[in-house]
Amino acid sequence: MTAPLQDAQGRGIRYLRLSVTDRCNFRCVYCSPSEWSGRADLLNAAELERLTRIFAALGVVRVRLTGGEPTARKDLVEITERLARVPGISELCLTTNGVRLPELAGPLYDAGLRRLNVSLDTVDAAAFRLLSGERGEAADVIAGIVAARVAGFSDLVVNAVVLAGVNDKPSQLAALVETAWQLGATPRFIELMPFSGGTLVPTDLVLARLALAGIELQPEVDKTSTPPRGPSVYYQHNRGSVGFISPITKNFCGGCNRVRVAANGDLRACLGGREQVPLRTMLRDGASDGAIAVAIRAALMLKLERHDMDAPRGRLLPMMGIGG
Ligand code: SAM
Ligand code: SF4
Repeated sequence: MTAPLQDAQGRGIRYLRLSVTDRCNFRCVYCSPSEWSGRADLLNAAELERLTRIFAALGVVRVRLTGGEPTARKDLVEITERLARVPGISELCLTTNGVRLPELAGPLYDAGLRRLNVSLDTVDAAAFRLLSGERGEAADVIAGIVAARVAGFSDLVVNAVVLAGVNDKPSQLAALVETAWQLGATPRFIELMPFSGGTLVPTDLVLARLALAGIELQPEVDKTSTPPRGPSVYYQHNRGSVGFISPITKNFCGGCNRVRVAANGDLRACLGGREQVPLRTMLRDGASDGAIAVAIRAALMLKLERHDMDAPRGRLLPMMGIGG
């Protein structure tokens, strides 16, 4: 198990994104098919811990819990406690839509979670309702971010996906950035990927519209961070920074350091790929840690040089089970 994990292109794999559920209380129009109700046979807390130990032994140092909506899992605090204790995992992170943070932020912090990404696409109440599939309120997410600050989370990122004609006006983009800064968080715009509906607004256009609204950003000079921050590029302003993830217009696959396990336990080497390895079956059929490690290594040998989400070939496998 000792040689550190690598993919077919020789990229070192240090970051595991673990989807803990494919259920969600929202139906974001860019993410979830409206009829989606969650259907995976989920890994239990002990299975998630065992898998994390195997990945850690292979050199993974960062784990992000995602979904679906991870706070929909009743045992999320227990999962967090178990994973935070795994030797070798130096960073445990969570991505959430934020609405359950008022009751969960404190217990999650106490369980060992230190990094939180909260999705808030816009502070415009009507646009937020539309984007969440009429399931959510921007004010509830903002209350969740405030609760996270109070609980002690200092490293907060606010993720926003921008859709043409919905939340892409210069004033809407600027209001989101200002609100995130006021809440002590770093706003980060993610380019729309073709999982479900909506029209892409490229990063360069978001930058131009922010400038139009009076927020002129400078590219970051110092990009060093340990472990590396992956595909995000941060721009600076004297009042704070703004991140951008641009999977469509600025391919970042060369620096990919991640692997994904979907809610049903399928290993996915690439978010844009279709190859899957059913780790749940191995966990439940009595496979040894060594055999699972061999299967993980083999799956990563199928990982291509880059995703082809920018190619016009239709939709990807649903995001809900994979976790972004
Ligand atoms: N429910 C949680 C949330 O919304 O933060 C975690 C799961 S969600 C799938 C993880 C991230 O993927 C969120 O930041 C969400 O905005 C992003 N996402 C979902 N669909 C996307 C799409 N089509 N393109 C780009 N990002 C997307
Ligand atoms: Fe749910 Fe997150 Fe997808 Fe929205 S982006 S539907 S909150 S999983």
